[in-house]
Amino acid sequence: MYGRGMARWTGSGVVRNWAGNQACLPAEVLSPTSTEQVAAIVSRASADGRRVKVIGAGHSFTATAMTDGMMLRLGSMDRILEVDRESMRVRVEAGITLHDLSRRLHEHGLALPNLGDIDVQSVAGAISTATHGTGIGLGNLATTVVGMVIVDGTGRVVRIEADDPLCSIAPVSLGALGVVCEVTLQCVPSFRLHAHETIERLDDLLSDVDGFAASADHAEFFWMPGARRCQVKRNDRTDAPLDRPSRVSVVRDKYLGENVAFGTVCRVGRRWPRAVPRIAKLVSSSVSERDLVDDSFRVFASPRHVRFVEMEYGIPLECLGEAVQRVRRATEHLSFPSLFPIEVRVSAADDLALSTGFGRRNGWVAVHQYRGAPFESYFQQVAAIMDSYGGRPHWGKMHWLDAAALAERYPRWEEFAAVRRSLDPDGTFRNEYLDRVLGPVG
Ligand SMILES: Cc1cc2nc3c(=O)[nH]c(=O)nc-3n(C[C@H](O)[C@H](O)[C@H](O)COP(=O)(O)OP(=O)(O)OC[C@H]3O[C@@H](n4cnc5c(N)ncnc54)[C@H](O)[C@@H]3O)c2cc1C
Repeated sequence: MYGRGMARWTGSGVVRNWAGNQACLPAEVLSPTSTEQVAAIVSRASADGRRVKVIGAGHSFTATAMTDGMMLRLGSMDRILEVDRESMRVRVEAGITLHDLSRRLHEHGLALPNLGDIDVQSVAGAISTATHGTGIGLGNLATTVVGMVIVDGTGRVVRIEADDPLCSIAPVSLGALGVVCEVTLQCVPSFRLHAHETIERLDDLLSDVDGFAASADHAEFFWMPGARRCQVKRNDRTDAPLDRPSRVSVVRDKYLGENVAFGTVCRVGRRWPRAVPRIAKLVSSSVSERDLVDDSFRVFASPRHVRFVEMEYGIPLECLGEAVQRVRRATEHLSFPSLFPIEVRVSAADDLALSTGFGRRNGWVAVHQYRGAPFESYFQQVAAIMDSYGGRPHWGKMHWLDAAALAERYPRWEEFAAVRRSLDPDGTFRNEYLDRVLGPVG
């Protein structure tokens, strides 16, 4: 039914995520090229009692995309199917990457309203985990979804339109409701950003979080534990002409500085952890101020070659100042400090069932550790602080919560569970991670 002539069989073998902290051995890996093929695969798998999981770009830090069943890769389903310039709605196949999508949209004079700090994710993977950027007036990527085509757990093709109640439940699904084959996104006219980066005092930023959040269309800061000052990035929409950095300075700053040199520094820190506070001071003092104007998608995303693990929590914005001060105190006593700065961002409220932004403006706190270095004690201390504010962990990043704890943080939890029961009654899309964070289907 889905022989090798139809959905490409890409063999078997161990599959790892980007960070290398999750691995699985799928029974089979298939690359379908159409919704019909996906439907055939899922209906056959469901009839045989087998499990199915899609992996996007594998950039989640959790085991959310891992399976020992059948793994689907939708990289061949990467077309733009329809562009409606008037409504600025664009229908795309779910395997397209944010990188390709942004460039194709730009050719049509359109853009996604916001992006995170990389763009290599698949559109479906990013939406399914509520991937976000920063901006107090902007929701995560899932909030741009105005239509979807999914294949449910029995192989049925389900079309979800903008006015369908499912449209506020299905986008942030962790792959638990179906295989997303198409999404329709509400875009905006393409725009430029003026990026200005400054060095500011942490205490000043934390004493007026609202002011900081409102200080730019996209405001964020990076704070190195132990330092008193932070690198603040503010991106504002502008009509100013392009003022791009030269290729030489991009290679120097983005590739050599942020990746090659930083990778070396991280290896030194992992080998000699006692040197980390001193190295951290050097890294922090080497950050300089920058100013440029470029197309939005080029400003948002940067290459990330130094591999790390990450945990990120969204907490009510009004708690952010106090929470970061508590994190600051916790980082004074770490046995294995990190050379990665803590990243602080903000986002708007939305009404999507399992969206981390449901019903509240979030302040985001992200902690990182170099791959292979101990992270548990650091992350768990920060998690405890975030949990005390009813924090919602990013669905694609590390955390220790289970379904019982998460259910209390999502008012529409039961609605999502009911939809899951109807779309995937036999748990075709289950894996160990979903069993932990969403609980059993029934
Ligand atoms: C270096 C780095 C930087 C990052 N920066 C940010 C950031 O700035 N902001 C942010 O919010 N996050 C960020 N993330 C997290 C990342 O955006 C999310 O983990 C995202 O889900 C990854 O997308 P992916 O395509 O790799 O999906 P995967 O990790 O492969 O999958 C994620 C989930 O989506 C499901 N899925 C994927 N495709 C489909 C489909 N077609 N149908 C059904 N289910 C599907 C998978 O089964 C899985 O449950 C970053 C991660 C890394 C490694």
